[in-house]
Amino acid sequence: MQELGEISNILSDRITALEESATIAMAKKARELGAQGFDVINLSFGEPDFQTPQYIKDAAKQAIDEGFTFYTPVPGYPELRQEIANKLMRDNNLDYKPENIVVSTGAKQSIANVVLCLVNPGDEVIIFSPYWVSYEEIVKLAEGVPVKIMGTLENDYKVTAEQLEQAITPKTKLVMYSSPSNPTGAVFTEEELQSLAKVLEKHPQVHIMADEIYEYINFEGGHASMASIDAVKDRTITVNGFSKGYAMTGWRVGYIAAHKDIATACDKLQSQITSGTNSIAQKAAAAALKGGKASAEEMSAAYLRRRNLVLDLLKDIPGFVTSVPAGAFYIFPDVSAYFGKSHNGKTINSALDLSMYILTNAHVAAVSGEAFGAPQCIRFSFATSDEKLVEAFTRIRSCLAELQ
Ligand code: PMP
Ligand code: GLU
Repeated sequence: MQELGEISNILSDRITALEESATIAMAKKARELGAQGFDVINLSFGEPDFQTPQYIKDAAKQAIDEGFTFYTPVPGYPELRQEIANKLMRDNNLDYKPENIVVSTGAKQSIANVVLCLVNPGDEVIIFSPYWVSYEEIVKLAEGVPVKIMGTLENDYKVTAEQLEQAITPKTKLVMYSSPSNPTGAVFTEEELQSLAKVLEKHPQVHIMADEIYEYINFEGGHASMASIDAVKDRTITVNGFSKGYAMTGWRVGYIAAHKDIATACDKLQSQITSGTNSIAQKAAAAALKGGKASAEEMSAAYLRRRNLVLDLLKDIPGFVTSVPAGAFYIFPDVSAYFGKSHNGKTINSALDLSMYILTNAHVAAVSGEAFGAPQCIRFSFATSDEKLVEAFTRIRSCLAELQ
């Protein structure tokens, strides 16, 4: 059979220009090394190591037994959309009706829906950097122009109102960020969102996608939502989901809350691509919300303990310079102090080189910062056991000590 690569121009420009997800690629590499018998500690994938809470699993079993096996309404079961509206009122003081909610197959699909529904070819999309790897690629899929603005380490990598002001042009259509942030763990305070909103108020053509999927993993307490600021509420699309807070990555349920016109557009797009999300997962998600936040808080307490452990372990690793993550479960040190060093004649020239060196020599998988817009950093997930974290950073420390 002819190899696909031998047939010229078979694939679209769209897919040829698209990068594979760096987080997923590294997780795949770690699994392959593991399958070859290496004792790999995988800190690459952003995934809770906890099981989904039992009451949620029970609701899924019940859904099967009760016959929830048919196609679902495209934007989600009315019951789940109502539970999400209740949650937004309870936790975020946001007043939305079920018609403003669209449930999707993971927040990743929610984000893709929003970008594809809002962005025309050539529209500029401001992405607060460092950013989650899929943002830029989804914007490229929509033929938008990513405009990245970089937060500074001194400001915990948070973009300021002044930076935003400077980046907006008449072509800006959308601003995208996550708070708590993947990969930095930075959390915008209410005051910081207010100052960003003040800038956005002056530019009514600009929409805002606020990705709040790590909302429940917040070590400082306060979570603020851009949509709670009246002046920009109608232009803000809040993205959230069940993967992180409820440890439900494999169930694939995410959602948006947005102006009805945007929600209707996402519903239409989804009707042509995936239809409604899995019936059983939706019933489980509704049960998750009905059960409140207790299980999420328990898991968040474990992430906080692990964050503190990792910060302690990093003190023994010279040249790893980091902000203190206020939420999510990643640490994102600047590792550029190692650039130019070498081992056995091989020089480390980039974060990618260093992450491959760490993978090969310490058997610890982590994701290099290039795909997050921060080529001087490496992302380590601390959503794993204390023992593994201690072992991983001990191995990293000794392999880095060999670099000269
Ligand atoms: N946004 C951010 C910032 C994420 O880290 C993730 C994790 N994959 C997602 C969205 C998508 O989550 P999911 O598709 O699992 O709901
Ligand atoms: N959000 C996770 C991460 O950043 C999951 C992987 C993905 O969907 O890209 O690692």
